Amino acid sequence: MFPSYEEFQIRADDIRAQIVVACARARRDPAEVALLAVTKTHPAAAADYAARYGLPAVGENRVQEAIDKQPLCTAKIQWELIGHLQSNKAKLATAHFDRIQSVDSAKLLTLLDRAAADLGKTLRVLLQINAGHDPAKFGADPADAPRLLETALACPHLRIDGFMTIAPLGATPAETAALAARTFENLRAIRDDLAAKSGAPLRELSMGMSGDLEAAILAGSTQVRIGTALYGAR
Ligand SMILES: *Cc1c(COP(=O)(O)O)cnc(C)c1O
Repeated sequence: MFPSYEEFQIRADDIRAQIVVACARARRDPAEVALLAVTKTHPAAAADYAARYGLPAVGENRVQEAIDKQPLCTAKIQWELIGHLQSNKAKLATAHFDRIQSVDSAKLLTLLDRAAADLGKTLRVLLQINAGHDPAKFGADPADAPRLLETALACPHLRIDGFMTIAPLGATPAETAALAARTFENLRAIRDDLAAKSGAPLRELSMGMSGDLEAAILAGSTQVRIGTALYGAR
């Protein structure tokens, strides 16, 4: 059931506390880890809750769902696309999102750059990398990341903030945890390597969800994307 604001507040406080504990273990400053409220499938009020709590942004999976909710959301908040983006929606997505995290092909980069130019804006993006080599997941192959970044950095209307990944599921909880840790370490290594080679800061590492937040923070996550733990099951 969709929670009351008071219930949401308790859950968000709990997530913030988990972030603080994980940061202490990682010897990191909790201010370096943002909480993205994933509002997909939930009513527009979910975004209002996030804004009222003071969160800077919400994440949505589908372009049309976000467009439907945005006029109903009274509070000011940033909208980020975290789900797969089809080429034919690139222009619409550029107009309606503050950042797109799911950019995984040169073709998409070209379309987004052109759309941003047409709209007279600079679009912030993350490159989604399939750092866990999961055949069921979108995201560019890690081997293609250097070329994808090169293309991205040559797009004058895009600002490349960093990378995003989703960890694969294992057959058991222990296997899932091990895969998550490996996936996040891998993305961190890819980022460190490409930032050193390109000279671009690529600061953002969007990784970690309700079930694997701590492993993500230990590996260097700067943004965890949390849905279920804030709003309940979908
Ligand atoms: C749905 C979703 C999330 C949130 O997952 P929860 O397990 O509900 O916290 C995070 N990232 C992406 C890309 C998602 O699609």
